[in-house]
Order: sequence, then C-alpha cells, then structure tokens
Amino acid sequence: MTRGFAERLFAGRWIAGPDIGDAIERAKRFNIRNISAILNYLGEEYTNEKDVKNAVSTYTRLIKAIKESGVKASISVKPTELGLSISYNMFEHNYRLIVESAESSGIFVWMDMEEPEHIESAIKAYLKNLGAHRRTGICLQANMKRSFSDMKAILRQGGTIRLVKGAYSSDESLSYKHKEQIDNNFIKLMRYMFLHARIFTIATHDTGLIELARRLNAKHERHVTYAMLNGIRNNLAIRLAQTERVSVYVPFGTEWVPYSYRRLKESGHAKIIFRSLFEKQGI
Ligand SMILES: Cc1cc2nc3c(=O)[nH]c(=O)nc-3n(C[C@H](O)[C@H](O)[C@H](O)COP(=O)(O)OP(=O)(O)OC[C@H]3O[C@@H](n4cnc5c(N)ncnc54)[C@H](O)[C@@H]3O)c2cc1C
Repeated sequence: MTRGFAERLFAGRWIAGPDIGDAIERAKRFNIRNISAILNYLGEEYTNEKDVKNAVSTYTRLIKAIKESGVKASISVKPTELGLSISYNMFEHNYRLIVESAESSGIFVWMDMEEPEHIESAIKAYLKNLGAHRRTGICLQANMKRSFSDMKAILRQGGTIRLVKGAYSSDESLSYKHKEQIDNNFIKLMRYMFLHARIFTIATHDTGLIELARRLNAKHERHVTYAMLNGIRNNLAIRLAQTERVSVYVPFGTEWVPYSYRRLKESGHAKIIFRSLFEKQGI
C-alpha cells in the first residue's frame, strides 16, 4: 500500500467530504442515531489572509446551512485558521464575527486547541468574548502541564470545557510525554470538572476513562456530553448514545493532510489499517 493511497483511504473515513453539504449530510446520519455533530472546516496555520477570509466565510455559510437544514450540530474553529499565526487581533476579530453569527442562529461554537504556543491567545480570546457570548466552549488538553490552572481560570468565569488528551506535543517543560502521565492528568482534570462545573464534554475514545466519567456522573449528576472523532469508534458512539449525550466531531474540507497525520500517528499504522478495513463503523 503506498503512502498516498493509505492517506486517501483513511482521510475518506474520517472526513465527511470537501463541502458544507457533505458535513450536513454526515451530521444528519449521526443525528438519526441520537448523536449531535461538531462540525469543523479543515485548515490550520494560515499565514495568508486570503485563506483566513475563506475560512471565515465558510463558517458563516456553514452556520446558515446548519440553521436551514435543522441538523443538531455545533461548530469548532481552530485559532490558526482564523488568523492567529498572522496576528492576535485578526484572530480575535474573526472569532467574534463567527460567534456573533452563530449566536443569532442559536448555534454553539467550540474553540479547538492547537500547539502550546497558541494556548495563551486562544484562552484570552475565549474569555474576552465569553461574557457577551455564553454559547461557546474551549478545548483543554490533558497532556499540557498548564491545563489545570487554565481549567480553574476558565471555570471561574463560567466557561464550558471540552477535555481531550491532546494531539500536539512539545518539550517536557510544557507537556507530559508518557501515556500514563497524560491519562492521570486527564483523570485529575475530569474529577475537578465533576466537582466544579455543571456542563462539560469528555472527548476521548478511551473506554476506561468513559466508564470512570459515567461512574462519577452517577454520583454528581452533571450535564456531561461524551465526544469522539468521526470514523474512529463510531460503533462505540452509537452504543453510548442509547443512554448518554454523545457528539461526534466531523471535519470537512480539502485540507485533510495534517488532521489525518495526527490520527494516523495516534493509532499506529498497522492497527488503524486493520480496523479501518475490517471493522464496520455503523454510519
Ligand atoms: C471530539 C474531539 C475533539 C478533539 N479536539 C481536539 C483539540 O481541539 N485539540 C487537540 O489537541 N486534540 C483534540 N482531540 C484529539 C485528542 O486530543 C486525542 O488526540 C485523540 O482523541 C486520541 O486520544 P484518545 O483520548 O482517544 O486516547 P488514546 O489513548 O489515544 O486512545 C484510546 C483508544 O482509542 C482508540 N483510538 C484512538 N485514536 C485512534 C485512531 N486514530 N485510530 C484508531 N483508534 C484510535 C485506540 O483503541 C486507543 O486505545 C479531540 C478529540 C475528540 C474526540
């Protein structure tokens, strides 16, 4: 199997398709299974204003399409596709435009978290706009050492968090390197949310962590959503959605390479090739 072929094969499994229409169709297929969608337009690390403008206009059209189609979906934006690598002001301006447009359509906006050098700006823009725009949330990564203090700051202001293990690494001064450390930090952060937050999202395919969250929720009775990535564990998402609130993150667009590399790296090629070829995903 050549590398190019493998990439196309898996990107096809994880990504809805190139257009807004593909994203809406995939969202409908999840909605039928009682699963809401988190739609993301692929693109990151833009250093060209034209690409940023295209991303903003795509999100504006996506918001309209979600409203018109009536699908149950939120959106999730990446700071660097809204211009953060060009300037903080450009990013914050674009983020506000999208949040305002989504708010008028009753659509929730998530902010993805990227490399560690972008975390500070992402949180700053999120918190600055949170007071006026409550239907927003931000991702925090358990592999980042700073996430516990970020979590406390965000929850103090009433923000909504989506907790993930983290897809971007950095040197040891900033991030945990070993799976055990990352999982332990995930548990610490998750326990903190059960004690100090009312509404949050646990985004993982790790069945041990999902089970722990469910046990904690039996005790604390929070508004928890379990979230997964499209095409990784769809069957698990479908099963879970019979009793729990579940969302699936569905990327669309043509810039699928960085996203697909992150997914390939996380699973190991052999394992994912096996799973993708032989396991029915149910959607
Ligand atoms: C809804 C959602 C939003 C996310 N948003 C962000 C974000 O904004 N920023 C960010 O840094 N990260 C984000 N991530 C990615 C996340 O950080 C992890 O990189 C990713 O979820 C894999 O970690 P895991 O929690 O599933 O645990 P892992 O320990 O990596 O995996 C647990 C189990 O799930 C299965 N699995 C995991 N990944 C794969 C795969 N690619 N192929 C096949 N099987 C797999 C394996 O069986 C594995 O044993 C998001 C993830 C989700 C689910």
